[in-house]
Amino acid sequence: MLTAACKDAGFECDYVAKGNTEEELLKDVAQHAIKVHRMQESDMTPEMIQKVKSITHALQ
Ligand SMILES: [Zn+2]
Repeated sequence: MLTAACKDAGFECDYVAKGNTEEELLKDVAQHAIKVHRMQESDMTPEMIQKVKSITHALQ
């Protein structure tokens, strides 16, 4: 299981995105960011994806 905490990305938010794969995790992050942080699909840039990867933690 992979997780990425929204607050680690600099948001004041307790949401923690989860996914079994990096692809699932990024999808969860994108859905959350669009719904809660009013981001657009186009905001999920390579830089943003790189940032998410840098705050991703793997749980056993
Ligand atoms: Zn959030």
